[in-house]
Amino acid sequence: MIIAIDGPSASGKSTTAKLVAKKLDFLHIDTGAMYRAVTLYFLEHQVPLNNPTQIKQSLEKIDLKLSAEGKLFLNGRDVAEAIRENPVTNFVSQVSAIPAVRDRMVELQSNLARNHDVVMEGRDIGTRVFPDADYKIFIVADTEVRSRRRYLEMREKGVDCSYESILKDLIERDRFDSTREHSPLKKADDAIVIDTTRLTIEEQVAEIIDIIRSNQ
Ligand code: C5P
Repeated sequence: MIIAIDGPSASGKSTTAKLVAKKLDFLHIDTGAMYRAVTLYFLEHQVPLNNPTQIKQSLEKIDLKLSAEGKLFLNGRDVAEAIRENPVTNFVSQVSAIPAVRDRMVELQSNLARNHDVVMEGRDIGTRVFPDADYKIFIVADTEVRSRRRYLEMREKGVDCSYESILKDLIERDRFDSTREHSPLKKADDAIVIDTTRLTIEEQVAEIIDIIRSNQ
């Protein structure tokens, strides 16, 4: 079974998807983390985004693996922390807009779901990766609420940041992700929308589980 969860940055997708997967005993796949890992590789190897040959060669050298606990490894290295840092966050939308990068990620994502029931979250899961997913959820929330959540999350981790810079980053990334030519962030026509502005994480998880149970 495939449960596709899409939505903008900091809408609560990741936490919700992780908990839904845990409840159902499905594999959780955070595709944003995959694009972030490619971005980290591109930054570390100074891959020029205007050079298709170097992009293609770099993609061939990138090995992404998910551990049983859902941890992402880039060429054998645990990159969970590095992919959340500012240089990656500031650059990821540009890397994600490259068709060759997207094609490679979609191929990997399809392979990851081949032998598992999955909860896969991202921007284009219901529209491009799995247009025939069993369930499609599109999560939205007010921009300011999303920024506040992300700000508190970063502060909790001890990261020095300002609410204003997070708000600016979210607006910019959403704009870039929604207007790019290839697989933009977009609700699939048959996706169910959940507005999490006034919901707790537990309520978001319960809504999705209810949708699935009521259809079984
Ligand atoms: O979900 P997260 O904010 O970590 O995603 C980081 C970036 O990866 C997004 O801003 C978007 O540019 C890209 N992305 C994408 N397609 C996906 C998942 C993420 O383009 N399926």
